[in-house]
Amino acid sequence: MTAATVPPAPPGGQTTYDIAVIGAGVVGAAIARELAGYQVTVALVEARSDVGDGTSKANTAILHTGYDAKPGTLESRLVRRGHQLLGDYAARTGIPVERTGALLVAWTQEELDALPGLKAKAEQNGYDRCQIIGASQVYQELPHLGVGALGALTVPDESIICTWTVPLALATDACLRGTELLLNARVEGADVKDDATVLHTTAGEVRARYVINAAGLGCDTVDRLFGYERFTVTPRRGELLVFDKQARPLVNRIVLPVPTKLGKGVLVSPTIYGNVMLGPTAEDLPDKTATGTSETGFEFLLRKGEKLIPDLLCEEVTASYAGLRAAINRDDYLIDADHDLRYLLVAGIRSTGLTSAMAVAEHVRDLLTKAGLDLTPRGQLPDPPQMPNIGENFTRPYQDAARIAADHAYGRVVCFCERVTAGEIRDAYRSPIPPRDLNGLRRRTRAINGRCQGFYCGAEVLALAGSRGDLTPLGLATQKTR
Ligand SMILES: Cc1cc2nc3c(=O)[nH]c(=O)nc-3n(C[C@H](O)[C@H](O)[C@H](O)COP(=O)(O)OP(=O)(O)OC[C@H]3O[C@@H](n4cnc5c(N)ncnc54)[C@H](O)[C@@H]3O)c2cc1C
Repeated sequence: MTAATVPPAPPGGQTTYDIAVIGAGVVGAAIARELAGYQVTVALVEARSDVGDGTSKANTAILHTGYDAKPGTLESRLVRRGHQLLGDYAARTGIPVERTGALLVAWTQEELDALPGLKAKAEQNGYDRCQIIGASQVYQELPHLGVGALGALTVPDESIICTWTVPLALATDACLRGTELLLNARVEGADVKDDATVLHTTAGEVRARYVINAAGLGCDTVDRLFGYERFTVTPRRGELLVFDKQARPLVNRIVLPVPTKLGKGVLVSPTIYGNVMLGPTAEDLPDKTATGTSETGFEFLLRKGEKLIPDLLCEEVTASYAGLRAAINRDDYLIDADHDLRYLLVAGIRSTGLTSAMAVAEHVRDLLTKAGLDLTPRGQLPDPPQMPNIGENFTRPYQDAARIAADHAYGRVVCFCERVTAGEIRDAYRSPIPPRDLNGLRRRTRAINGRCQGFYCGAEVLALAGSRGDLTPLGLATQKTR
């Protein structure tokens, strides 16, 4: 596998990739993985120092069925297909998923009247497992729900998933299949020549015959480098609150609001790490870096949470975060190939891209084939990676006696809130795409992600991180000694 941090040598004897994918979020990583399954050379070019460090790290982490998509759109088709593909891929790679199901709760007569239409819409989207249930059944299923629910639509296959592991697994898989991962390489210019396009990046030049723009919030800027002026990305901020693990028994499934013209609204959901999450807000901003949270958002969400699950407010908020949806001025994905420029745009993957990414990748593959790119499958592909399963509902290393007996590092808890062991931190640094900073380590292990947010464990985690996971500075044996 190759996981370079700098592009190959500058022109004159340098590599020309068949395909360069710009952006190593969940979408770009899925595309690189898919294309690397064929006899082509692929570079995955990322501005940041890690994969999955943009919008893909901060969302509501739901594996959507697509029940509520706009029927007939590309998004509807790709979310539905992506639900299947990612569900299967998660089972093969150890990406944590919990099949919690969802209830879309009606609080007013108008919302109750909307449920049959939403059920019919789900069926138009190819999803026929929704049922309408009455208030008494709603309270049987969600005993802690606030008063006033009139009924609900069930969506049994909405699930929660680890949004951090998905891009990491896809990018690791892409690298195992031969993709070159080029980090810290922001694309700032593009020269389309007859035989190849030269991408000017902050880390040097990258040459490729075909270029795929999967730059998320940066899609419009990159699109302009290819001479287009067709859309603008408006960052739509979504703020979320995370409640302490004590709150988890209050919420056993995803609780959705009835969508309005203004958006999908605020949901409450269990998280894959054993917490409860409330959000997101929806606020259009001019700044593509505005991932901070606000006091207004905090107050707004608490008011919503109080109505949904009043007991939630008795529990502590342990973290808040915000993600930016890459909204464009149309109601569907914008995936378009320019055969002359050998350039393909993947834009408008706004609020469903975690789910749809693998299906988007298939769609991109098909468009490239139509554009005349010869995609011959590789004979033998490596097995997909086995990812550390960091979900709370699965056996964690600290709980696994046999694993601890074989390697004492898994018995040494370093982050007590999240029960992360020294062995897991070491493994993260030895993995094909190791973390570059503490947040990268958090996304791979859950270290410093608990209620203390690193207050108690930070120093020790930092010491391990500083030694890149090598446990010897702390005097730990990495293997059992007899
Ligand atoms: C609040 C919120 C809730 C959401 N909830 C869900 C959900 O529950 N389920 C679901 O399926 N989806 C959800 N989504 C949507 C999902 O998170 C996104 O659709 C998905 O993460 C988009 O992935 P991406 O790869 O397109 O973008 P990103 O993850 O942003 O990746 C794009 C990458 O491109 C890089 N880049 C940008 N410009 C350049 C450049 N010039 N050169 C090189 N690299 C560049 C960036 O650094 C970034 O890493 C939600 C989104 C938000 C914000």
